[in-house]
Amino acid sequence: MSTRKTLVVAGHGMVGHRFVDAAIERGLTEQYDIVVYGEEPREAYDRVALTSYYEVGADALSFLPGGTYEDPRATVVLNTQVTAIDRAAKTVALSDGTTKAYDVLVLATGAAPFVPPVPGKDLKNVFVYRTIEDLQAIEEAAKTAKAGVVIGGGLLGLEAANALHKLDVETHVVELAPRLMAVQVDDAGGATLKRHIEKLGLTVHTGVMTEFIDADQDGVEDGKVSGLKFKDVDEVLPADIVIFSAGIRPRDQLARDCGLEVAERGGILVSPNMQTSDESIYAIGECAAPGGRMYGLVAPGYTMAEVAVDALLDGPGEFLGADMSTKLKLMGVDVASFGDAFATTEGSLELVYSDAVAGIYKKLVISEDCTKLLGGILVGDASSYGILRPMVSSGIALPENPEDLILPASRGTAQIGMPDEAQVCSCMNVTKGEICTAIHEQELTDVPSIKQCTKAGTVCGSCTNILKNLLTEEMEKSGKAVDKSICEHFAYSRQELFDLIKIGELKSFDAVVEAHGTGRGCDICKPAIASILASQFNGHVLDKATVGALQDTNDAYLANLQKNGTYSVVPRIPGGEITPEKLIVIGEVARDFNLYTKITGGQRIDMFGARMEQLPEIWRRLVDAGFESGHAYGKSLRTVKSCVGSEWCRYGVQESVAMAIELELRYRGLRSPHKLKGGVSGCARECAEARGKDFGVIATEKGWNLYVGGNGGAVPAHAQLLASDLSKEDLIKYLDRFLMYYVRTADRLQRTSTWIEQLDGGLDRVKEIVVHDALGLGEELEREMSRHVDSYFDEWKATLEDPEKVARFVSFINAPGTPDPNISFTEDRGQIRPVTFDEPVSLGSSIPVGAPQ
Ligand SMILES: Cc1cc2nc3c(=O)[nH]c(=O)nc-3n(C[C@H](O)[C@H](O)[C@H](O)COP(=O)(O)OP(=O)(O)OC[C@H]3O[C@@H](n4cnc5c(N)ncnc54)[C@H](O)[C@@H]3O)c2cc1C
Ligand code: SF4
Ligand code: SF4
Repeated sequence: MSTRKTLVVAGHGMVGHRFVDAAIERGLTEQYDIVVYGEEPREAYDRVALTSYYEVGADALSFLPGGTYEDPRATVVLNTQVTAIDRAAKTVALSDGTTKAYDVLVLATGAAPFVPPVPGKDLKNVFVYRTIEDLQAIEEAAKTAKAGVVIGGGLLGLEAANALHKLDVETHVVELAPRLMAVQVDDAGGATLKRHIEKLGLTVHTGVMTEFIDADQDGVEDGKVSGLKFKDVDEVLPADIVIFSAGIRPRDQLARDCGLEVAERGGILVSPNMQTSDESIYAIGECAAPGGRMYGLVAPGYTMAEVAVDALLDGPGEFLGADMSTKLKLMGVDVASFGDAFATTEGSLELVYSDAVAGIYKKLVISEDCTKLLGGILVGDASSYGILRPMVSSGIALPENPEDLILPASRGTAQIGMPDEAQVCSCMNVTKGEICTAIHEQELTDVPSIKQCTKAGTVCGSCTNILKNLLTEEMEKSGKAVDKSICEHFAYSRQELFDLIKIGELKSFDAVVEAHGTGRGCDICKPAIASILASQFNGHVLDKATVGALQDTNDAYLANLQKNGTYSVVPRIPGGEITPEKLIVIGEVARDFNLYTKITGGQRIDMFGARMEQLPEIWRRLVDAGFESGHAYGKSLRTVKSCVGSEWCRYGVQESVAMAIELELRYRGLRSPHKLKGGVSGCARECAEARGKDFGVIATEKGWNLYVGGNGGAVPAHAQLLASDLSKEDLIKYLDRFLMYYVRTADRLQRTSTWIEQLDGGLDRVKEIVVHDALGLGEELEREMSRHVDSYFDEWKATLEDPEKVARFVSFINAPGTPDPNISFTEDRGQIRPVTFDEPVSLGSSIPVGAPQ
């Protein structure tokens, strides 16, 4: 007689699948035949990534393509619901009319969306957002729908809303609380998020209650939803689709019906080893309530699955509760909330970094003595979550400058002091120590193998950047060559991609992905490719088909974003030379639009405080007066500063103004890995500070000295001499070659100084290539530069000529003429300045969100 036992799992969702996987891996199938019943028509899939179904299809989301486990002792039966449990007979009844005997039963039935008893909730085209079938039904309804409403402004509601919006349905989000995601974020975070959502073109209604869903609004009696009535608002909001996302309820009915104990607020009560009140029955995932509490996240569910397997193997595993810190990525919006996010600890202080327009808000709550991190909120960029959360639980001392922890990741500080026990991947609970051990012991050399080996980064994927950094660090430590792939979507460096795009004449991001990449791109590869495409083909920066959709925040509005969400406007003034008429126009524009005005360190005039919807009008007047965009926003040539030179100065030996103008006009609009600045001085006294620029030209008695690789900024570098006493023709030739070679080969966000430093051979190598043409590339580089010069056009002029582009410049998509009420100014020294909000410490005021002039 067989001694094998039968283990039945009810529910083949994320946690049920994880249970079977762990059971196979840990040898539970040596004792048990496992049968999993799933009521859905498909095997377990990644519900966390549900919305990407519209882009990648159901197969890509599947956790078990083909529907069979490698171990034949575990089988999956789909389209079959467990309808009842007979505890005395130890059998389950199935929807196909049969019964199945079990020795052990594991309930993994998940949760169901909660639909409040709003009149009209049963009308046609009223949906929930939980399964692939729900998404398919929504997709079908969207084909004929004009407007849709999502009831619930929590994370899932926002995800559903974004999906609806992408289906080309005018989308409204309705939230009872005064802000979005009220559970996870504070008012400022909620406001940032709202702005982010509205930027995408959705309309958000907070603090409103739905009274009923209407079917008669359009006078057609077809049982379909036609509108939504808010309490205390007369007008009905027209809607052809309504999606409820008002929370979830554990699916514990099976347990209730057979007399298992359930928690007061729902969920099957379980002991720390996931056993229910019947010792043969376990419950895991969202249907379970360990200690009376239900967890609506996948990570605690996975831990419960592991604990249950352990318990069945007589192991000591216990579920000791889960940190409800949350980090979710919902179609572009990262939101994380951890520890004492709402600063309830007495005396706690808040550090805030905020970039409202880019949709980034970060708050740290720290102890009164500034030594410990207590909690935080991250909206729009949660890349530092992997470091911050363990700092709360382990009580690691804060670094000297805690603000470094929330500075943008591009500043490279995101991993400061990350301890081994720091949890890098919260979905799969993998620590830095485990990842580093795997890198060394398994000799891993790329991110995909780290993912495969440790499972880190395999659920929501938002820790991938940290994996890449850890890999680089560990490989460098052991003296190994580091994979230079730009990100996980492209197995190439920026330089290699530059060449591939050129050779293949690829003209859009999609074409580049199709030819050389995978996936849909990310914050690293999208701007990098945008810059490569722009520098090679010089398309309009706002053209969606080419690069527009991929650019950095500043590029998106052809202006430099400032800290209160306004923009600064910088017309090009080549060489700093300007006629009185033009000066007057600038003065008039600044006066008429009440802009704060400042002469920059690069000899340009900066006008601050322009609201987004004012930008086209401001530019129309500037363009009419003969100005063009100073490119003070993008990664491109900013200025070529000059002194007055031999025309006015007693010491000058060459005409530095004329040269600066010529160079600025030649290289204007050139897109590059980082911003570029130049300077020309009329003699060695160097009044233009040309050696603090990416390229500096200093006049000599015999011609011009060319210096390269200087910059100011956070890590200043002095430019170094590349060639001396050059004629004007040679100067331009070498500069063409130098700049094009840099554009072609530097890494993303690499300044000329670090590029030279990291080139094999350093400045000597640059000399060999640029001056001695050692690679025979000289002519090609010059040709590329000529093509850039010939194809230059003013982005602002072109924008004004295209109504579709002009239409982007609105603060509110649904009310184009309305200025953003969140922007306010006060006055200082006779000019406007942004109002400072009274947060305890606002780091946002000292961290620039755009590139400075
Ligand atoms: C759109 C969306 C986005 C999300 N994003 C995140 C996120 O970013 N991070 C995060 O941590 N969590 C997220 N979640 C929550 C996460 O998906 C859940 O925590 C997780 O799926 C729970 O797993 P589970 O197995 O307990 O439940 P489920 O995955 O729902 O699986 C339960 C399965 O059991 C089946 N079932 C139920 N009753 C029976 C029965 N009687 N017989 C047979 N089968 C039955 C159900 O049909 C279902 O297939 C998201 C959820 C959604 C809907
Ligand atoms: S750099 Fe020389 S030429 Fe230019 S202003 Fe100074 S002293 Fe005069
Ligand atoms: S505050 Fe802004 S402009 Fe001033 S130095 Fe910093 S980045 Fe530059």
